[in-house]
Amino acid sequence: MNYLILKSIIEATIANFKCKNCDSWISEWNLNILWTAGNNINMEIVCPNCKVQWVVKAEFWMLNNNNLKNPDFINNLKTYFNWNKEDSSLESIKDEDILNLRKGLNNSSSIEDFFKK
Ligand SMILES: [Zn+2]
Repeated sequence: MNYLILKSIIEATIANFKCKNCDSWISEWNLNILWTAGNNINMEIVCPNCKVQWVVKAEFWMLNNNNLKNPDFINNLKTYFNWNKEDSSLESIKDEDILNLRKGLNNSSSIEDFFKK
């Protein structure tokens, strides 16, 4: 992981992120890095004012050395980012899904058969 790129992403996020719920600006204290994997970084932002949690996803490819030298690119970073309100329903597997999976497996003679259905 490139420290400079990571630092730029965080700085650009802090400079550009505005809470969609209450229009508050954030500071570095409101930002946590959730994980980085490959070219992706996920950050969590908790609004200092209304306490709404946001998840910010960014990709390193957006910030190669040429882009880093281009102030316009940095200024426009916000348009490349996805700011998403944290939606726990997307993350968790529901009981219903597990039941359906089990049912599907029981009715299939093999895994290949299961995925054909
Ligand atoms: Zn807010």
